Amino acid sequence: MSHAPYRGRFAPSPTGLLHAGSLSTAVGSYLEARSRGGQWLLRMEDLDPPREMPGAADAILRTLEAFGFEWDGEVVYQSRRHDLYREALRQLIASGHAYACCCTRKEIAATARRGLDGYVYPGTCRKGCPDGREGRAWRLRVEDGEWTTHDRLQGDCRQDLARDIGDFILLRADGFWAYQLAVVVDDAEQGMTDIVRGADLLVSTPRQLAVYDALGLARPEYCHLPVLTNGAGEKLSKQTLAPAISGADAARQLRVALSRLGHAPPEDCQGLSEVWAWALANWSLGRVPRGPLQIGLD
Ligand code: GLU
Repeated sequence: MSHAPYRGRFAPSPTGLLHAGSLSTAVGSYLEARSRGGQWLLRMEDLDPPREMPGAADAILRTLEAFGFEWDGEVVYQSRRHDLYREALRQLIASGHAYACCCTRKEIAATARRGLDGYVYPGTCRKGCPDGREGRAWRLRVEDGEWTTHDRLQGDCRQDLARDIGDFILLRADGFWAYQLAVVVDDAEQGMTDIVRGADLLVSTPRQLAVYDALGLARPEYCHLPVLTNGAGEKLSKQTLAPAISGADAARQLRVALSRLGHAPPEDCQGLSEVWAWALANWSLGRVPRGPLQIGLD
């Protein structure tokens, strides 16, 4: 349990523009931080250029500004922090927690079974790469047993990491850093005490706990907010063609986002700063539904 002053963040990936789902996450993490007198930082998770959309990082920042979000300090860009990730990987290799892997996707698909998030790595390179082959990716060696995320909204969530996920990637064969490593390195380096984000990431949390433990870092507190889904029950995302939010109609959209989070503002509260003031005064995690929340797109 962390007793340091609250420090939270919003960490969008610039793979697309802000949509109703990411807005809802930003609103929840902002209000939780501010209502606890904490800081709230912005971090752009731009480590996967092939998946990124040109201009999205700036567009996300402009939209957040239009909504009146006020973040502390400068925006942090993961693309400028490779040295930190390299150093963390070096430590994990030195302590025996990370190992090199030469397996291709095709080889893994041929023998592995499916788990909670794709194939469960069958452990081929755990004791070293087969003769004559060289590892290009790095994986974290996962210990057997159950991992529990104590989530402030979702309760205790258990996962058998070794059985359902397996040894996971830290550095990809194409040279890009994996989200699971970078997010932990950054959250720890930036002193985050509380991670408030979408519940679609709950499946990732035990992997991140494993990275915290392997690096000897203190774990933060977690709170996974409900994800918004479309009529087909799919999470709103760029892949499911969620419409982008521009901030042109910010006060109304903020009212909608708050209502989805269990905090419908009163009718006479319509201006952007009034809505924020009401939300800050009334925010309580106890009113937030666990979700998922199916929404009509408007
Ligand atoms: N960058 C991630 C996303 O946009 C969020 C990471 C996090 O909050 O841990 O889905």
